[in-house]
Amino acid sequence: MPSGAVPSGTYGVGAAVTKPNCPEPPSNYSPFQAPGTVVKDIDGLEPGTNHGTAADKYAYPASVVNQWLQKPSTQPKNKKIVFVTFDDGPTTKFTGEQLDNLEKAGARATFFMIAPQIRDVNKNMLTRSLKMGNALAIHSYSHDYKYLYHGSAADKAKHISCDWDWAIAQNRAVLGSDYFSSAFRHPGGHMSWSNLSQSDAALAKRGVSWIDWNAMSGDADVQRPTTVPGYLEMVKKSIKESDNPNVVVILNHDTFGKQMTAEAMPSILSWLKSQGYEFGVIS
Ligand SMILES: [Zn+2]
Repeated sequence: MPSGAVPSGTYGVGAAVTKPNCPEPPSNYSPFQAPGTVVKDIDGLEPGTNHGTAADKYAYPASVVNQWLQKPSTQPKNKKIVFVTFDDGPTTKFTGEQLDNLEKAGARATFFMIAPQIRDVNKNMLTRSLKMGNALAIHSYSHDYKYLYHGSAADKAKHISCDWDWAIAQNRAVLGSDYFSSAFRHPGGHMSWSNLSQSDAALAKRGVSWIDWNAMSGDADVQRPTTVPGYLEMVKKSIKESDNPNVVVILNHDTFGKQMTAEAMPSILSWLKSQGYEFGVIS
């Protein structure tokens, strides 16, 4: 499925990676110097997308998946699709372990990345992920709730769009000038915050849609499961409670400390397969 309209102009595909037109959002990383040149695409990237060509047949734009979640009557009638998602990576250890899990299961996932963290991982891992059929999407540049969500609706729109602008500039500096992802996952989830309609409009102008989730392994809950079977039970329970069984978007994390998510994923993927789900990615 095509990824939808890819914008042109400052943030258009193929443009030189330039410094965004707003101050750099707060970050734990040293300041990002945009290269000011067109960056060669990483091996495995299909230009204009966030994935490789192998993923074309099961990649769905975030706007479509969001519509399915918001309005279940629009969901495909005769198939079950699951979108396994990982937030807060990439990290060499945990992203690497999840890639091993996905490969063994013949499954794929969408990785919502904190952009500056891609400086920490080997490019070969990102290429491997793309060639396996996964998608590399945008989670944030700052991942800073105070910066993103403080103040008026206009403040939020200004900061969230600035955060996105820096995130895509950072991603393009590593993944290539043709990288584009319509999928944006708000830190904490869109559902957790109010007065985001101006911000949503600012993102829409960039060709971007937000996407939350309707199921989870519970790995970021305060009262998270304490065993591997507990993670699988949480996935089953949240799918059941979502009352939305044909399209499932599962929240997980591949950042520091998420060892149990890595250990639980083989049984989660195997169960999803046994239930007849196809694995999709969000473009
Ligand atoms: Zn996050």
